[in-house]
Amino acid sequence: MKVGVVGAGIAGLRAAMLLEKAGHQVTVFEARDRVGGRMQTIEMGDGYYEAGGEWIDADHHRVIRLLREFGVAPEKSSQWPGLVVYQGEFATENQVWPDAARDANLVHEEAASLIAKRKNGEEIGEDQPLGAWLDSICESVRGRWWVESFTRSDEGEDTSEVSLHGWLESYAHYLDREDGDMSLYRIAGGGGKLCERMAAKLQDVRLDSPIQHVSDQGEVIERNGSTHIFDRVVMALPTSAVEKVLDVESQISLAPPEGSFVSFDLSWVFHLPSAKMARAVKLVLQFKNAWWRDKNWTGRMLGDLAFQQTWEIGRGNLNALGVYVCGAEAIQLMEQSSPVDVVLKSIAQVHPEAQESFTAGAVHDWVSDEYAGGAFPYYPVGNAPYSHKPLPSPSPDLGRESGRFKPYGKIHFAGDWACDWMGFIEGALESAERVVEEINNGSE
Ligand SMILES: Cc1cc2nc3c(=O)[nH]c(=O)nc-3n(C[C@H](O)[C@H](O)[C@H](O)COP(=O)(O)OP(=O)(O)OC[C@H]3O[C@@H](n4cnc5c(N)ncnc54)[C@H](O)[C@@H]3O)c2cc1C
Repeated sequence: MKVGVVGAGIAGLRAAMLLEKAGHQVTVFEARDRVGGRMQTIEMGDGYYEAGGEWIDADHHRVIRLLREFGVAPEKSSQWPGLVVYQGEFATENQVWPDAARDANLVHEEAASLIAKRKNGEEIGEDQPLGAWLDSICESVRGRWWVESFTRSDEGEDTSEVSLHGWLESYAHYLDREDGDMSLYRIAGGGGKLCERMAAKLQDVRLDSPIQHVSDQGEVIERNGSTHIFDRVVMALPTSAVEKVLDVESQISLAPPEGSFVSFDLSWVFHLPSAKMARAVKLVLQFKNAWWRDKNWTGRMLGDLAFQQTWEIGRGNLNALGVYVCGAEAIQLMEQSSPVDVVLKSIAQVHPEAQESFTAGAVHDWVSDEYAGGAFPYYPVGNAPYSHKPLPSPSPDLGRESGRFKPYGKIHFAGDWACDWMGFIEGALESAERVVEEINNGSE
């Protein structure tokens, strides 16, 4: 079959690789002048860092398999347990203050109980903002801050924006984990570089080719007007790009699919338009020396200052800390004349060495990026799949109903929103495997 793949992020690239392997004739269209999308490796002298996706958790088996396929080792890089700073006082992630530890534990137990109920097909109540639910559980101000801190840095958004039901779906993945399983590995040589190697194996990758319209009949129209007809099309775009660039409402009018359990305005592909992109920006601060190592500290820190998280981002010979700022604070920071200065000053408040050793900074603002529209997807309140109708009872496994991401006509949907591992590189690969299976099995 002739298959068009729209988007050369890791989801589109993986789908294209597997499709070619199965004997299809594949053309990949990418809007940017590079492949990799939200995976981008920035090289600096004899070092590098990731501007986008970076960490691989211990149970991200698809990523680890892909690395093996390319002869790349998963690079063990755990920086856990990091420091925690709250109102000028330090603790560590594995030993926070007793009130904070108690609140985190209460939240964990309540979440585990709701997930178990959902699995058994029991009602778990109306959806609500995750933040309001956390307010109702936490007993101390410091505990509430601590829970916000690690949840926000994981979701990339303020918990007041995030759906409780959607968050539970992600949290279900974490129940069986050990401390430190999260962010255990990174991709040796860089994730963006891995994407380049994936693209190099493909027959036909077209850069600088933004797609403007895709029809359910397999028609793909470039922004410059060139039109292509395919037997199947894989749309491997972030939700924001599908909504903004492809102009879903006017260009693809679809009826709700038979048996769809989610209903909303554009009820065509299940919950696609309901996932939003998190407002998270990444800053990178370079230093003359890795002063944090002299303090016997990995560089990882969660704090209540002008940033939410720091970690050692520099690889090879690059001495650099990465900084995450998420939610409303990310937008406010981007309005400042020098976001790097704001963050540097804030770090120097608790680590004065930072100011002295600082050499240069960079900002990676994925929120304003035309082809990303944010860092990674999350469900806003009322838009998680469960918020609409209870699942058939008993549900086989939380969030893993078959048919949730069915193709529409000749369009198959991939990307880190169209998967169970939503928002992760693992999820992008999961979605790629699914669309290839759909195409190989002839489902339409
Ligand atoms: C700052 C940041 C940190 C992250 N950290 C982690 C992490 O630590 N661990 C983790 O697992 N994940 C992380 N992620 C998420 C991870 O990067 C993504 O889940 C993954 O890269 C998504 O891949 P994708 O192929 O689905 O989407 P994308 O990478 O967004 O690929 C989509 C592609 O489509 C292209 N495109 C858009 N519009 C058009 C159009 N109209 N026509 C043609 N092409 C178009 C885009 O340019 C892009 O190349 C992070 C992301 C960011 C931004």
